[in-house]
Amino acid sequence: MQQLSNEQLLKTAQQFGTPLYVYHSEKITEQYQKLKTAFYKPNTRFFYACKALTNIHILQHIKNIGVGIDCSSINEVKLALHAGFEPKNILYTSNGVSFEEIVEAKNLGVTITIDSLSNLEKFGQTFGNTYPLSLRIRPNIMGGGNIQISTGHDESKFGIPITQLQQILNIVKQTNINVEGLHIHTGSDISDIDVFIKGIEVLFEIVHHFPNLKFIDLGSGFKVKYKDGDKATDINLLAQKIYEDFDNHAVAKDVEIWFEPGKFLVSESGYFITKINVIKHNEEAIFVGVNSGFNHLIRPMFYNSYHTIKNISNPNGVEKEYAITGNLCETDTFAWQRKMSETKEGDLLCFYNAGAYGFEMSSNFNSRFKPAEVMFKNDEPHLIRKRDVFEDLLKNQLPLD
Ligand SMILES: *Cc1c(COP(=O)(O)O)cnc(C)c1O
Repeated sequence: MQQLSNEQLLKTAQQFGTPLYVYHSEKITEQYQKLKTAFYKPNTRFFYACKALTNIHILQHIKNIGVGIDCSSINEVKLALHAGFEPKNILYTSNGVSFEEIVEAKNLGVTITIDSLSNLEKFGQTFGNTYPLSLRIRPNIMGGGNIQISTGHDESKFGIPITQLQQILNIVKQTNINVEGLHIHTGSDISDIDVFIKGIEVLFEIVHHFPNLKFIDLGSGFKVKYKDGDKATDINLLAQKIYEDFDNHAVAKDVEIWFEPGKFLVSESGYFITKINVIKHNEEAIFVGVNSGFNHLIRPMFYNSYHTIKNISNPNGVEKEYAITGNLCETDTFAWQRKMSETKEGDLLCFYNAGAYGFEMSSNFNSRFKPAEVMFKNDEPHLIRKRDVFEDLLKNQLPLD
């Protein structure tokens, strides 16, 4: 298994400073190989959901190993083109976007998934059958780690509810739209394989309405392990079940199966290294305050997510229980009652599984700098984004005229 060692992480932090994101490109390759092994059929394609991590070097690495890309904004589409992806390997899964943005994506030649009746109708009226589309269907099923990251249930804003099928069909017929794809994505952190299978059943009931169908896009939500005892999505079993379902279906057996993994590809490739500023021995807890906060890694506060945290300066010390917090003027607890090897001020703490939705969701809150990013390739660390400097905080602000 590809993993960076304690020594590599320490050395990299010493070289580039903290807080620091470190990515291991070979780990991304390994994760892709796992998917390819499980989903071995040539009719299965993968598109990296790049909202997880968009550093251009990560995108290029992913392109080089043969993965396509799934974008959730027009700027991500432009980044993908900038990274060298060909339009035919780029998906634009739009959500809540203006029609102008969809036209822009069309002009760039990428595959577009539409997720509202309103934009579907506008597209049909403007372009008819001259440009194929994929439709995001909301299957009205529950799946995902928690409600904030569940996107397929019957109160979710995502997709066109399956209950509006007749309206979809009316628009498609009236404006002669060429529907080549059907799409579902029901959430993140889905370890229950039945969620995928139920989603497929919903799509299978409607595929016969779309005679030009070329692909069914099952989105993603593959879960990875954040800690011991976590149940990751069993992709081998999932592949077996999905292939069985598709093979047994009159229409679906001839279409391609697409996936859009984000977290699965990059989560474990990422490490976030911070330094301990202060330790407070209070009655209720020992607070370990690091030089970061939810401005750099928001997942614990936003999703109540668990990240393994290790004291890489003292990996084999006596275990003690700590509250690990940041330096923001706001509650920014990374972990509570967490056992960790004994700490002292100046030690480096490493957060694991920091590749997905880590740097990407960072901000300049409290006017702190965004961290630097380093990528390991062939055992060599490369600085792929420098740390902010003071001027960055002011660069878009204008004098009064
Ligand atoms: C976020 C997202 C993904 C990726 O989800 P992960 O849980 O990171 O794998 C895939 N498809 C769409 C449409 C998304 O919005």
